[in-house]
Amino acid sequence: MTDSSPLDVLDPATGETIASVPGATAADVDDAVRRAARAQTGWAALAPGERARQLRRFAAVVDEHLEELAQLEVREAGHIVGNARWEAGNVRDLLDYAAGGVERLTGRQIPVAGGIDVTFLEPLGVIGVIVPWNFPMPIAAWGFAPALAAGNAVVLKPAETTPLTALRLAELALEAGLPEDLLQVLPGRGDVAGEALVRHPGVAKIVFTGSSRVGRRVMALCSDQVKRITLELGGKSPNIVFADADLEAAAAAAPMAFLDNAGQDCCARTRILVQRPVYDRFLELLEPAVESVRVGDPADERTQMGPLISRAQLERVGAYVEGARGDGGTPAIRGRAPEGPGFWFPPTVLTGLSPEAPAACEEIFGPVAVVLPFEDEADAVRLANGTEYGLSGSLWTRDVGRALRVSRAVRAGNLSVNSHSSVRYWTPFGGFGASGIGRELGPDALAAFTETKNVFISTEGTDR
Ligand code: NAD
Repeated sequence: MTDSSPLDVLDPATGETIASVPGATAADVDDAVRRAARAQTGWAALAPGERARQLRRFAAVVDEHLEELAQLEVREAGHIVGNARWEAGNVRDLLDYAAGGVERLTGRQIPVAGGIDVTFLEPLGVIGVIVPWNFPMPIAAWGFAPALAAGNAVVLKPAETTPLTALRLAELALEAGLPEDLLQVLPGRGDVAGEALVRHPGVAKIVFTGSSRVGRRVMALCSDQVKRITLELGGKSPNIVFADADLEAAAAAAPMAFLDNAGQDCCARTRILVQRPVYDRFLELLEPAVESVRVGDPADERTQMGPLISRAQLERVGAYVEGARGDGGTPAIRGRAPEGPGFWFPPTVLTGLSPEAPAACEEIFGPVAVVLPFEDEADAVRLANGTEYGLSGSLWTRDVGRALRVSRAVRAGNLSVNSHSSVRYWTPFGGFGASGIGRELGPDALAAFTETKNVFISTEGTDR
């Protein structure tokens, strides 16, 4: 494979090739960054109200194409259609929300002697957004919507396997009237186009979402230029079930908390920690809940879980489950998955592993959870914090004091109590530890794409 080899896009439900797109080279990236820099100057000079209006128009055009975008995501990523519709809607909502922030992106006036002191939130310039394959549309928009709103241009590199919705979004931006070259999408290999974007001196900031392994490399490359960076990386999130919890509710909610998107979710609650006195009962309740999850054709409205993204991912997930057997683990619960073509893996729950076993503490990124017993609150917190990650987590208890104590003690960026919800476009999202640096979404999203400038204006005429 050469640097510019075309990228084949496969339907994960059938394994068939559905498209082939050209792969960008380092020269293509250089050209795109130069054009983006020119577009950014005019964009940043627009009145905030006008920038906001254009972004709202972009949101409206995305909304008009919601079903088309959703169907495209079903085909290229194997997402179940209900999720894909939510994901396209998330792009629209992000654009609307970011548009609402444009006129509110104000600096401050700070009291000083002999003049006035004001701060400006200046755009950074060209932002490089690098996106993984697991949520191609939302993760693209988490980067480009606030970046554009804050007055920047964006060059976006989608994942090799899922470039189609990003390419379509860039077309829709033009259709909505956004300036040419302001939002460019360059599909390409990570080690070629991705790395060229990271190394490019004309790129002021990189927003990288992907594995912790590549994230570490991106961070090292950015350090050379002291380049700004946001990293959204991996996770191995705990789901802590205390003995005083509503056990039926906790067991009913646990399957989709690790099976949504076939477990290819950085927030997947794959480390289920259950207090010893209710451990056996919880597993009894979990078994039928996992077995009843409908796995199959992602285009079918009733399906709850689709295929994995690729053969490589299928092999990786299978290797973890095999490895777990070798470490004394048992696949205590197994759901069903279609046979035949496509990249299918059944829902799987492992028991009998030590918390340090690879399947229990590394990110598998497939429909596999491990259940571990714990003794008391301190033990639960120790286990929850026992991985290098710190992205999300849930805890189930009826005790409000415990809910707050444990929420404060678990080192993770997004926690939910008696719920697994962790992503809303208007609340902050991001990780502790190896799960990343910086926060996306929420009220401060635009500020992450600005540099604060302080200006003092003397009213005295001379420096004294
Ligand atoms: P990945 O790290 O392999 O790839 C992510 C992106 O980086 C792709 O576009 C890839 O082409 C690019 N890339 C690869 N090598 C590169 C390099 N040397 N320089 C620049 N770019 C490079 O990750 P993936 O397998 O696509 O995605 C899965 C991972 O993403 C999981 O670890 C998951 O937890 C993580 N993720 C995190 C979040 C979050 O918000 N924290 C959200 C979704 C996914």
